[in-house]
Amino acid sequence: MGYEYRQEISDLIELRKKAYTDISDAIWGFAESRFEEVESSKIQQEYMRSRGFEVKADLAGEATAFIAEWGSGKPIIAYVGEFDALSSLQQEADKTERAPIPGKVNGHGCGHHLLGTGSLAAADALKTYMESNNMTGTVRYYGCPAEENAGGKAYLVRDGYFDDCDVAMSWHPHTTNKVTGADRFLANFRAFFTFHGISAHAAGSPELGRSALDAVEMMDIGVNFMREHMIDQARIHGAITNTGGIAPNVIPSEAQVLYAIRAPKITQVKALFDRMCDIAKGAALITGTTVTVRQVSAYSNVVHNETMGKIMDEHLHAFVPINYTDEELAYAAKFKDVITELDKDGLKSMISQLGDKERRKEIQEMSMLDFVLDRRSMIGGGGSTDVGDVSWVVPVGQANVNCFAAGTALHSWQAVAQGKSSIAHKGMLAAAKVLACTGVELLMKPELLSQVKQDWIDELDGEVYPNPLPKDLKPEIW
Ligand SMILES: [Zn+2]
Repeated sequence: MGYEYRQEISDLIELRKKAYTDISDAIWGFAESRFEEVESSKIQQEYMRSRGFEVKADLAGEATAFIAEWGSGKPIIAYVGEFDALSSLQQEADKTERAPIPGKVNGHGCGHHLLGTGSLAAADALKTYMESNNMTGTVRYYGCPAEENAGGKAYLVRDGYFDDCDVAMSWHPHTTNKVTGADRFLANFRAFFTFHGISAHAAGSPELGRSALDAVEMMDIGVNFMREHMIDQARIHGAITNTGGIAPNVIPSEAQVLYAIRAPKITQVKALFDRMCDIAKGAALITGTTVTVRQVSAYSNVVHNETMGKIMDEHLHAFVPINYTDEELAYAAKFKDVITELDKDGLKSMISQLGDKERRKEIQEMSMLDFVLDRRSMIGGGGSTDVGDVSWVVPVGQANVNCFAAGTALHSWQAVAQGKSSIAHKGMLAAAKVLACTGVELLMKPELLSQVKQDWIDELDGEVYPNPLPKDLKPEIW
């Protein structure tokens, strides 16, 4: 069976290109951050309804979460999208110097306006293709809030919204094109440890006081000693979010520390977290205080799927190079000039891993890295994603698709500035095509879908999702 459907999918996405870029640009403008993506969610829901999808919203305690569904029966193919912005990154579009928009706080520094809309477009195109080719099955688009600083998808997973899916796909705007399956994402937990003591005059009656700040310090000492006895790849970093006040003559009655705990696997993170809860109890015992622990998020590691990687890689090669115009390359070159010196170093070190001397020189000159990286290379990994949680309950495929000038860092004003450009739009549309074609192929070849499932079972190797979020934890802005 050939890939004749690729042209049809590509045409379907090009046909509605304006609607998709309008939605993406509008979400860029709304720039709503975690759990406040009201308009960003609404515009996507409205579009999907207008295209014949059934929409249910307000899921798992997340008002801005929704699922748009079309079709019936198995298999159920899920496209996963995001639309949250980042704080303090407001920036005028296309400006190559820092230009905050007055009155705005947030900016789309991680390209989630493109991410959500690209996944939505893939679901839309697959649905239309299935309709016109009389194919059965279900297509879903998951509008997932709060990827940043809350892990919104973990709540949807915990509450069972992905349980009946056969496969899920996502992508991320990037400066490279690459299937992301083999990369190392770190799982992570965030938790507040709040100590409660007794306030007293620090000179007049210190024997009557019990210092919560002492307990925070004791806990940090305990965690420092624990660092010697944990795996090399684990990371623990903390911020004291409440010191108990600024008066040295008052014994602090309440103090708080927030820890991020990271390791390659969510089960390792959970084990470290359990040990830290014991350290906190110890610190409370030593200081005569009490402690309350509030875990506020969990991001699981991504369960790799080799077959999904292979399929997506083939389709990625079909739609990349994206082929930019001279004008677009000149636009990107201007942004390549204004990335930070550190990002320039990062780009150089990434390029040093690519090809021979000649090729590296060639790549160094490029303003857009318009080629596909080897999916087995470790380039572009790191960080954490809540797509990881999805991958524990359903096989997942993901790719990075180029939307920004070479070397642009995510979570920067430079990325925000490029978010409405034609290079960003082209990346989004290419990603939608890759995701939709992967969907078509899985529907056409049930044996491939079985292989995807088998890979997932093999990769989990008997492990089950550890449900890292407490059962009664509600999504919140903390
Ligand atoms: Zn992101």
